Amino acid sequence: MHRRGFLRGAGAGMAAALAAGASASGPTVRWRLASSFPKSLDTIYGASEDLARRVAELTEGRFTLRVHAGGELVPGLQVLDAVRDGSVECGHSASYYYVGKDMAFAFDCALPFGLTARQQNAWMSAGGGIELMRPLFARHNVIQFPGGNTGAQMGGWFRKEIRSLADLRGLKMRIPGIGGQIMASLGAVPMTLPGSDVYPALERGTIDAAEWVGPYDDEKLGFHKIARNYYYPGWWEGGPQLSFYVNLKHWQALPPTYRAAFECACAEANQSMLARYDARNPPALIRLVQQGVRLRAFPRDVMDAARKAAFALYDAEAAKNPEFARIYKAWRSFRDSQIQWFKVGEASYANFIYFTK
Ligand code: CA
Repeated sequence: MHRRGFLRGAGAGMAAALAAGASASGPTVRWRLASSFPKSLDTIYGASEDLARRVAELTEGRFTLRVHAGGELVPGLQVLDAVRDGSVECGHSASYYYVGKDMAFAFDCALPFGLTARQQNAWMSAGGGIELMRPLFARHNVIQFPGGNTGAQMGGWFRKEIRSLADLRGLKMRIPGIGGQIMASLGAVPMTLPGSDVYPALERGTIDAAEWVGPYDDEKLGFHKIARNYYYPGWWEGGPQLSFYVNLKHWQALPPTYRAAFECACAEANQSMLARYDARNPPALIRLVQQGVRLRAFPRDVMDAARKAAFALYDAEAAKNPEFARIYKAWRSFRDSQIQWFKVGEASYANFIYFTK
């Protein structure tokens, strides 16, 4: 509440400063923003609309962004490429979509058993994360800004109960990215399907399980009607960050006040997304449980084996990928120190509040 108030205040102050300081007017700048996401994911997609609205307000309408949903200008998984090539000036995406180019992109979003949303934000904004990531993006002709977070996701919808690690063998699951690689090492068969294809595949039995986001988004896709077992936690996405991308040449050509407006609006959109998920997930979870959804924790042997496989994967990648190794060293150290602190203050408080009657 206070944070939001502060940001709104900062925005208003900047608008006033721009109005007072800018001689009559700055240049008219019209950009297109390619989102990776469909409008139906209103919380994630909405961050781009928020950004566009605030940038226009802060520049008195001189700098505007036109937002395009995933697939309108470019396929959702090619937003980084489109911004790199300058076919759009900016975009909104999840950087782990691009681990095929370099696994180090995952640090800009999420790694399995990685940072929570709070910790990701701390790493990016005050722990050197943004600066560590900038050279990687610059090599792709892009500058990036944190652009939202879903908070810890759910582990997804399973047609059958998972009683132990052995039940993952041969299980066909929609789970993309590094989480999918780890699932494969545990014997599952990961599949990458776009959102629109997940429900029919689960309904037909082409897949046995599917992960998506969390209660608020999952409810809209109706997975609970065909797979009743809803697992937690989504250990591959403990606090995934979305990002805004800007083509470097276009960024460098912007007047400084427009850059400040853009950065300010990114910061606001970054925190608003998590706030909305945190406000909307609880009632959605209650509705799902009322409809007969069975909430289940992943068995301990699954969690332990997945964590072991995850860090083995990171060590192997660091041994062959200097860019990954450079960021991983700092990220790992930051993560370890976060855990030392969070388990003292935050975890003990949360455990008492959540689980003690
Ligand atoms: Ca997910």
